[in-house]
Amino acid sequence: MSKKPNGFNTRCVHSGELQDTQFKGAVSPLFPSSSYAYEGVEKVRYPRYFNTPNQEALAKKMAALEGGEQALIFGSGMAAVSNALLAFLQAGDHVVLQQSLYGGTYNLAVEEFSKYGIQYSFTHGNSIEAFEAHIKENTKVIYIETPSNPLLTITDIRKISELARRYGLVSMIDNTFASPVNQNPIDLGIDISIHSATKYMGGHSDILAGAVIGSASHIERIFQLGKNLGGNLSDYTVWLLERSMKTMGLRVRVQSENALEIARFLDEQPEVKQVFYPGLPSHPDHAIAATQMRGFGGMLSFELAQELDVDRFLKSLRWIKPSMSLAGVESTILAPAKTSHGLLTPQARREQGISDGLLRLSVGIEEYEDLIEDISQALVQAK
Ligand SMILES: *Cc1c(COP(=O)(O)O)cnc(C)c1O
Repeated sequence: MSKKPNGFNTRCVHSGELQDTQFKGAVSPLFPSSSYAYEGVEKVRYPRYFNTPNQEALAKKMAALEGGEQALIFGSGMAAVSNALLAFLQAGDHVVLQQSLYGGTYNLAVEEFSKYGIQYSFTHGNSIEAFEAHIKENTKVIYIETPSNPLLTITDIRKISELARRYGLVSMIDNTFASPVNQNPIDLGIDISIHSATKYMGGHSDILAGAVIGSASHIERIFQLGKNLGGNLSDYTVWLLERSMKTMGLRVRVQSENALEIARFLDEQPEVKQVFYPGLPSHPDHAIAATQMRGFGGMLSFELAQELDVDRFLKSLRWIKPSMSLAGVESTILAPAKTSHGLLTPQARREQGISDGLLRLSVGIEEYEDLIEDISQALVQAK
């Protein structure tokens, strides 16, 4: 029998697992030591070096699920994003960033990069031309996020990978929204795939974590910075995250199927002005999404018609919780204008297409019929 399981769920369950040789238990033992022997051992282990048994085991699972050679696990998604970017950028370098980005990544660039002499440009839109237009002599990295938050825009991963290779740039993607269940950017040519493992990898709204996955040489470079910045995840949480990831394939597949059903339903409601979901044929980038995603994910956004009361709609929901963050097994919803994008001026929000009636829904694993019924009655209440 081959040692490397190929089926996705088999990898979710078994890749990287540690053997309990002492008691023959079924799950990976937890090794919480922060102090390991230094004599007569093949390597000196220390949690901040990302090389405790549990960290190495979970990193193998992540690499196996994303199709990369190696991975590092961080204490948050932003630790993963910042370590990846700063590992490949130094004073005088330039990075091209996709315009529609997770707010924390946007803030990292705008609030921190100038302190380190790092230059950056934001694209206008997601086309290849929009990225190429900003590439300069000193550009080192190209950074994308697809599907993006909150409008679920799609960037052509293969074309970005080709563009980066043509100019000798390191390509990075924030693959959080798709998760490895629906999209494997490394197979499409991307160098480094980044995750907020707080989301679909954790999946139960109770873990903060991040991950980077890529080739051995790229991960080595991120490790060299990461061990100095000190952003690893505690072994206790690593162990918990391993447990969560065993069911990731099952969870995300149901979440994606549910989201498609709900998107189709919303698309037919007169109380809904517009639905943003890459799985709908009406989505402007549906064709690109279909070439690079296996499922279209559990995230969707929709805009209530002007005459509906957004607050009343949210308060009327019974199962779907108005809540920050996303990707848990329970459905959650938020109004970007009041939360993630609340600090922008009304005009800046309008420019980004974020109206006051826009709602971002993170679809859970409940029966979609129940979720549709919940939305239906709340639409009636909001009139
Ligand atoms: C949540 C999120 C992040 C940041 O992750 P944290 O775990 O909160 O640090 C980055 N990118 C995307 C797309 C996210 O949704």
